[in-house]
Amino acid sequence: MKIHEYQAKEILRAYGVRTPQGVPCFSEVEAEAAALQLGGEIWVVKAQIHAGGRGKGGGVKVVKSLADVKSAASSILGMQLITHQTGPGGQLVKRILVEEGAQIEKELYVGMVVDRETQTVCLMASSEGGMDIEEVAASSPEKIHKVFIDPEQGLDRQQALKLNEEIGIPFGSAEKGADLFEGLYRAFIDIDASLAEINPMILTVGGDVLALDAKMNFDSNALFRQPDILAMRDLDEEDPAEIQASKFDLSYISLDGDIGCLVNGAGLAMATMDVIKLFGGEPANFLDVGGGATTEKVTEAFKIMLSNPNLKAILVNIFGGIMQCDVIATGVVEAAKQVDLTVPLVVRMKGTNEGLGKQILAESGLPIISSETMADAAQQVVAATRGAQ
Ligand code: GDP
Ligand code: MN
Repeated sequence: MKIHEYQAKEILRAYGVRTPQGVPCFSEVEAEAAALQLGGEIWVVKAQIHAGGRGKGGGVKVVKSLADVKSAASSILGMQLITHQTGPGGQLVKRILVEEGAQIEKELYVGMVVDRETQTVCLMASSEGGMDIEEVAASSPEKIHKVFIDPEQGLDRQQALKLNEEIGIPFGSAEKGADLFEGLYRAFIDIDASLAEINPMILTVGGDVLALDAKMNFDSNALFRQPDILAMRDLDEEDPAEIQASKFDLSYISLDGDIGCLVNGAGLAMATMDVIKLFGGEPANFLDVGGGATTEKVTEAFKIMLSNPNLKAILVNIFGGIMQCDVIATGVVEAAKQVDLTVPLVVRMKGTNEGLGKQILAESGLPIISSETMADAAQQVVAATRGAQ
């Protein structure tokens, strides 16, 4: 799960991390009132969406009058903000953050991720802040400094100070920099974050060290014990197909391709996507209907797949272990009748009650392409998408 910048900054402030003062707003009028309340002469109006790169896309505006706060708010609110992380369609901006402007001396980078290899939290920092860190990693990896934090001991003060020196924070501000790293680490552990990124972390003209931007991702498996974090969830920022699927307890992830996949078991679902790609196709989604899929669940899964305008064909790949093939076949037939099945459907099923399942499909009168092996099923469905072009 992700949260907005202003929410991440609220969390960070509770852990002693310094940020500019700001107010989240939903309208022009609120934005003007927020600027008045904040005072000062420079404000920043920032689009709040769950994607980075907002600055380059026109979603961050530095302004110098109340009239400009209002006009920046009105141009950003309601815009379809396109960044390298939103996809070509962009994301509708419904919230903005109005902040007091900061006087930037230097833009730096700090991030934290869970490092699987060392089973620790990896703290990364760089002198190259404000830009795309993936680009820095590719072009000058030596400029990214890493510290692996021992979970028993926490972040060592000396390590934090050394890291400050390495990214070019002057001696006089080093304690402030180390405080920020420590606050970020304590927050990261307490709230079960899986990723936290402050890009840029800034050194101000006055020698302060602030988080000017903040991004946080959370481990969904830990949300049951993080009610305050869960309350920050913004469904407007999530994929409607994935939200719908989660209501029916379906594990569904939207992808960019055109072949819908309905599979039982996450491993088989992954393998199915691999085989589709092997034969030159592109999956439109990952979908694991689980072990106890009912007709209702299968019907819903079909509806969700068919709501995707890019869909050209569907592949159903079922292994009947605990799940019986005839139950799935009944579900497929029922679903195909209920929803207007407008694309070719390839079905491959193996295992318990396989014969009965196939008979149900054959007798349904539906134009289903039956297949015996995964390789054949994948080739058939790829061919079906080509035919649909
Ligand atoms: P992102 O583009 O989505 O990562 O949004 P950021 O919050 O990182 O803002 C993008 C850029 O806007 C920053 O790297 C800064 O250069 C600039 N910016 C943000 N806030 C301020 C501010 O208070 N003062 C000034 N001068 N620039 C700012
Ligand atoms: Mn940023």
